[in-house]
Amino acid sequence: MDQKELLRSKKLFLFDMDGTLYLGNRLYDFTNELLRTIKNTGRRYLFMTNNSSKSVEDYIKKLEKLGIAATRDDFITSSQATAHYLKLHHPDARLYVCGTMSLKRELEREGFTVTENLSDVDCIVMGFDTELTFRKLEDVSRLLLTRENIPYIATNPDYVCPTEFGSVPDCGSVCDMIFNATGKRPVVIGKPSPLMPKLAMAKWGYAAEETAVVGDRIYTDIKSALNAGVTGILVLSGETTSEMLEKSGDKPHIVLQNASFITDAIG
Ligand SMILES: [Mg+2]
Repeated sequence: MDQKELLRSKKLFLFDMDGTLYLGNRLYDFTNELLRTIKNTGRRYLFMTNNSSKSVEDYIKKLEKLGIAATRDDFITSSQATAHYLKLHHPDARLYVCGTMSLKRELEREGFTVTENLSDVDCIVMGFDTELTFRKLEDVSRLLLTRENIPYIATNPDYVCPTEFGSVPDCGSVCDMIFNATGKRPVVIGKPSPLMPKLAMAKWGYAAEETAVVGDRIYTDIKSALNAGVTGILVLSGETTSEMLEKSGDKPHIVLQNASFITDAIG
């Protein structure tokens, strides 16, 4: 199958956002036409994000500001995947959440009890916590060191999150702080784990052969595609350069200068 045929055989596109559809606060000029073409040809797309500091509602507002119309059903987030994982493996667990109010609300909305009363906690959830305090670090350390084998889950492994001035520490960095104190590592949910692509396929009824992940990072986006057994499409419109691609042991199925080439193939 040549590249165009392979692209045409895809029915579900899972898009990374920053570096793929926009950069910072600047929408790429091809994005709206791409999304329209996917819809108009009877296909589906979802925005797939590791960022658990924002709720789906926050993301809808952010995309709206950039000029993309979106609804709740257009997203697959690491918060949703975390809730799904918890339902499967720790149903009815009462959660200690080291995360934002948005993440707590999202997990409560899925039916979980969130508590700060440590003796009530059954499970720890780490998010990208832009509201982090030392108190939370102490609580998590105490739980891990005093409650043997307490389930410990992190929404995403990213060490840093890009900002307009560079980077700030993300969930993975905070988990390293906790590791230094406790020697414990969490189960990690977001990309490069296959959980988000798998959940998206199961939820919307698509097979692996019909599904592609489109993103600008090999070690998260493309790795999640490879781990889930779906097509990985790397775009060079964000973080990854040709040199980085050459050096990487993980090879995407398709490499595009940017995502507008998908429009050309399926339109
Ligand atoms: Mg990206």
